[in-house]
Order: sequence, then structure tokens, then C-alpha cells
Amino acid sequence: MKKTNNFRSFDEVLRSFLDRREKEFGMHRDNDWWHASSLGLCMRKHYFRRMGLSVSNPTPYRIRFVAQDGNAGHAWREKAAKSMGVLIACEERLRDKKLKYSGRFDLLIELQGEKVLIDIKTQRPEAFFRRSRKSKGEQVENFQKQQLASYVYFAKKKWPDLKEARIYYVDRGGGVREEFSFLFKKERFKKVTDELKTLNKYWEKKKIPPVDKTWLCKFCNYKDVCKKVEKSKLNFKQVIQKYA
Ligand code: SF4
Repeated sequence: MKKTNNFRSFDEVLRSFLDRREKEFGMHRDNDWWHASSLGLCMRKHYFRRMGLSVSNPTPYRIRFVAQDGNAGHAWREKAAKSMGVLIACEERLRDKKLKYSGRFDLLIELQGEKVLIDIKTQRPEAFFRRSRKSKGEQVENFQKQQLASYVYFAKKKWPDLKEARIYYVDRGGGVREEFSFLFKKERFKKVTDELKTLNKYWEKKKIPPVDKTWLCKFCNYKDVCKKVEKSKLNFKQVIQKYA
């Protein structure tokens, strides 16, 4: 006889799906790398993730649903680029064994004979308009530039003539779009490699990086662990024993 399930609503089905997928992802996570998506942000948080610590402050479902919908929006844009004959590569994994870097860019396309790397950022309407109201130089966060520059730096090893990258913001509620182009210079690439070298130094010495208090701490998955590490001055080994 077919076993009945215990789901009381469709929303519960979706929440359980996300939980299961996150658990499976956690079990198969390759913790041997620094991930592009954490560059330019708190090094301690990045470090905790690589240590494989259990999250003490899970991301609320509301935010996880928004992220899922954002990812789903990438699919049709990828199809469109392919169909219009401009797609060179998509969702390609970039790795550097020496610097322990791992990243995956959204799209690499050809525009007017030039290769252009595209990073798609779907935003909630409030976030989109809060960002677009800022002054010109501040509309793209520094950490997003750092992540984008890392894609270009490592993708250049395969496509040496790649020069340009763009962040393509989409307002998920109203359909407004904004595209920002970057031609990164050597100094920006150095910032990327310097950050990775610093992380590697902390890792080799088994030293936990200092706290980096910003407004983002409010959303950090390791907020409670971070406080306890700070309060009790726990070292690498003690943190692994308690929280991994
Ligand atoms: S709470 Fe803040 S300082 Fe601590 S790990 Fe998270 S982001 Fe970094």
C-alpha cells in the first residue's frame, strides 16, 4: 500500500524540499575552497564556512524563497542568449588549486565581437530601488565588484582576450533592468589575489580571522557561533570540536 505523506500544505512541501536539498548539499560540500560568492565580505564568515561548521542562524525561508526565484530567472536568460547565438559559456566552474579559489560565473557572451562576462543579480523591488537611488559610483557594492573581478581574473586563463564584465540587475517585481560595465585593472585583480592569500595564511596557521562588524552581521548564518568564539576566545580546534 502506498504510504501517505504528512504534508499539510504546498508551502510545507517546498520548505521541506529546500531543507532536504541544503542537507544533501552540506553532505557533499567540498570544503577545500574559498568561494567567489564570499569574497569581499567578512573573512571570518568565509573561514567558518570552509571549516564546515553547522549554521547557528539559518537563513529564513522568506529569503531562501527569494533566492530560489532569482536563480530560476537565470534559466530563461541563458536560453535567450543561446537562442540569439551570443552564448559562449554558462555556469562554468573556475578553480585555482594554488589559491584555493572556486567560482562559477553566470554567462559568457559575445557582444559586437568582444567577450563579455555577465553576472545576473535579481533583486526585490525595494532592494533594486534602494540601490539605484544611490550615487553613480555606489550603485554596485564593492564586494560585488570583487566577486566579478575574480571571475574575470580566473576566466582569463581560459579566455585570455576577455576584458569586460557586466553586472545585470533585474527588479523582480517591476521588470526594470540596469547594466553596469567594468574593465578591471591590475590593481583590482591584485585585491582579489591578496584576499585569497590572506585567507590562505589564516588557514595554514589555523588562526580564525578577526570579526568584521558590518550591517551584514545581522544576516550571518554564524552569528551566534561568532559571538561565542569571541567571548570564550576559542581556537580552531575547539571551534571544530564544538560546532563542526
Ligand atoms: S557575525 Fe559578523 S563578524 Fe561574525 S562571522 Fe558573521 S559576518 Fe563575520
